[in-house]
Amino acid sequence: MSRPPHVPATAALIGAALVLTACGGVGDAARPDGENGVIGIAMPTQSSERWINDGANMVAEFTERGYGTDLQYAEDVVQDQLSQIENMITRGVDALVIASIDGEALGDVLDMAADSDIPVIAYDRLIMGSENVDYYATFDNFEVGVIQGRYIVDSLDLEDEDGPFNVELFGGSPDDNNAYFFNDGAMSVLQPHIDDGTLEVLSGQTSMEQIATPRWDGSIAQSRMDNLLSANYSDEEVHAVLSPFDGISLGVIESLRAVGYGTDARPLPIITGQDADLSSVRSIIAGEQTQTVFKDTRALAAQTVDMTEALLDGQEVPVNDTETYDNGVKVVPSFLLEPVSVDLDNYHEVLVESGYYEESELE
Ligand code: BGC
Repeated sequence: MSRPPHVPATAALIGAALVLTACGGVGDAARPDGENGVIGIAMPTQSSERWINDGANMVAEFTERGYGTDLQYAEDVVQDQLSQIENMITRGVDALVIASIDGEALGDVLDMAADSDIPVIAYDRLIMGSENVDYYATFDNFEVGVIQGRYIVDSLDLEDEDGPFNVELFGGSPDDNNAYFFNDGAMSVLQPHIDDGTLEVLSGQTSMEQIATPRWDGSIAQSRMDNLLSANYSDEEVHAVLSPFDGISLGVIESLRAVGYGTDARPLPIITGQDADLSSVRSIIAGEQTQTVFKDTRALAAQTVDMTEALLDGQEVPVNDTETYDNGVKVVPSFLLEPVSVDLDNYHEVLVESGYYEESELE
């Protein structure tokens, strides 16, 4: 199977715009042809490159295999995503691939899809509370958190150092099932060190209710970090920040810089992240963000296309996990891909040598 080359961010933006134009906006009944059928692809937002790349890579893969596509982004507005999916159903797409904004909000629209016999694949984020989710293509989300937690533990050398070191914790969006998996994975590594006192959370904020970041919004994380710093760190240094997403990491860095971190005398703490978004990779190269978790959207797109094609052809759908992802109504058969830790030491090998980014994009 040949896979399309990664589409660089700017080209992906143009590609996505072309696809949106070709498909028409919400309510436009025109749909592109595909000898094997048309796939509706509902993505959450273009505010972070990973979703742009996900959409562009899937369109390329589906097109190569003779499918038309209807790719729509809802810019994190739940109601818009629901309308987009309803329109795809009305147009009679042959399958739906959905990366949800609010994983709990799709029940009614998925009932509509089921009434029209349209199969549904949850993409990257599990759709909750509905029996009408056929398969789930994602990364090992618990492992993403483990990688972030382990990065902090290894960087502070907690096997040999007693600390105590100060860490603050950030969580993802509370309406995204992934946020809990990331946090559980990270805490499986960090909690023993909090318990034995080598790590301290001076704010005392450790539960998901306290640390969640609605809609993964970096500016909300920045404000929360401002508050944490002024309330707890006038006489103390932050040594590490658990961030589950690059956009949150950049917000946290802004906040830290505003109070004087980021100099030789006062270096930034260890700051994790996720997605290898361009601005965060540049930040890693500049010595600000420390780490990110790379999830290769080319591989997830290819896997999703394989699963969709098998489903539509009545073949056995490839899955490798039939236990982990319970959406409250059923365990959704899943395929989990492996996430990879990226920092200054390996970004070139993982991101440039693999062709995910051009060297020139990182300057
Ligand atoms: C995805 C992450 C992403 C986050 C924010 C999660 O559901 O799995 O890759 O960082 O959403 O977009």
